[in-house]
Amino acid sequence: MARLVMKFGGTSVADLSRIRNVARHVKREVDAGNEVAVVVSAMAGATNQLVAWTREASPMHDAREYDAIVASGEQVTAGLLAIVLQSMGISARSWLGWQIPIRTDGAHGAARIAQIDSTILDERFAQGQVAVVAGFQGIGPDNRITTLGRGGSDTSAVALAAAVKAERCDIYTDVDGVYTTDPRVVSQARRLDRIAFEEMLELASLGAKVMQVRSVEMAMVHGVRTFVRSSFDDPDAPQNGAGGLPPGTLICGEEEIVEQQVVTGIAFTKDEAKITLRHVADKPGVAAAIFGPLAEANINVDMIIQNISEDGKFTDMTFTVTAADYDRAMQVVKEIEGMEIGAVQGSTDVVKVSVVGIGMRSHAGVAADAFRALAQKGINIQAITTSEIKVSILIDSAYTELAVRTLHSLYGLDKA
Ligand code: ADP
Ligand code: ASP
Ligand code: MG
Repeated sequence: MARLVMKFGGTSVADLSRIRNVARHVKREVDAGNEVAVVVSAMAGATNQLVAWTREASPMHDAREYDAIVASGEQVTAGLLAIVLQSMGISARSWLGWQIPIRTDGAHGAARIAQIDSTILDERFAQGQVAVVAGFQGIGPDNRITTLGRGGSDTSAVALAAAVKAERCDIYTDVDGVYTTDPRVVSQARRLDRIAFEEMLELASLGAKVMQVRSVEMAMVHGVRTFVRSSFDDPDAPQNGAGGLPPGTLICGEEEIVEQQVVTGIAFTKDEAKITLRHVADKPGVAAAIFGPLAEANINVDMIIQNISEDGKFTDMTFTVTAADYDRAMQVVKEIEGMEIGAVQGSTDVVKVSVVGIGMRSHAGVAADAFRALAQKGINIQAITTSEIKVSILIDSAYTELAVRTLHSLYGLDKA
């Protein structure tokens, strides 16, 4: 007997027939004698619709009311799954975030889980009842509903698994694991049997939305073994029988990975914007004068390049922000006082493509290979950042697929 948390994403609960299929996955684990808590997302598209209505009602809406509205999608699927499980003869009860309670900080719209009380869940496990928990939500210090940011049900699930000390957290989604890159973009992508927490964290934060970034952080901190698998397979197929695991990807500690590649995967994000300040004075204090006001406006700057100035007097400064912050960032830099700026130029037609792998720590030349391969395809590199286990490259968004495919082949990631 084991304690399991099973999480089902939006496409997995998109309608009643899929919810019935999900219930069969749950039944299988219950019948095998496991203690099970389930976390569900809203039906596919439901959260987008709720967000759209909120924005339409007022673009400057109150963040607490945004949360009250967008959290409602998960309430529906939690109730429906509990009913379907009951109709199959399984004891089940739905729970909203505040009923557990899942306590968060007060950052409405992007709240962080602070603490989960496992008392109720422990009681229900002891009674042999399945707890169906609405993902994506909690309760803030102001006693109001909070949400955890888009894709946040992954984080609900991993946090719950840590709180109840589950043996594993199973993330059921619409792909059968974590791939070397988004399989919807590159048909040659290969499923990874295992991936280290640290690599998954980089891939997720660099654009691979298969897991929300915070869920991976949480899994890493608490050592929650997390298994990504498909919800669309037949719940009773032999591969799902006792013992082994079906096709999928285990996200685990580095020490559990036997064969380590230099590059594990390629991620990309279109959620980028580039701003260039032309002809700014090249003297001490200029970077502080530009990035200070941006930080004060809560705008995160990612890549930064300062050109060398030919005359020692003026230079160009380029940096990137998220596309969502672009308009505000443009406004902030245009309002910087007491600084001579020749011109401010910006573009949102950029994409950041990243190469990730723990093996890069001990391997030189990974970045140089990427630059050469992209040059051969005529793709111009606009900015670069590196860390110990990643290289990120900013390019024109028109070349996204070509760049991802080129790098994917370059590092031998294509499936056989
Ligand atoms: P869910 O609704 O189940 O949470 P998401 O849409 O959030 O599912 O995440 C699954 C999607 O993530 C897949 O459909 C896939 O297109 C995308 N994805 C991006 N990068 C990867 C990757 N490296 N491996 C697998 N899926 C990826
Ligand atoms: N329903 C929420 C969203 O669409 C949370 C989730 O699916 O994880 O962002
Ligand atoms: Mg998701």
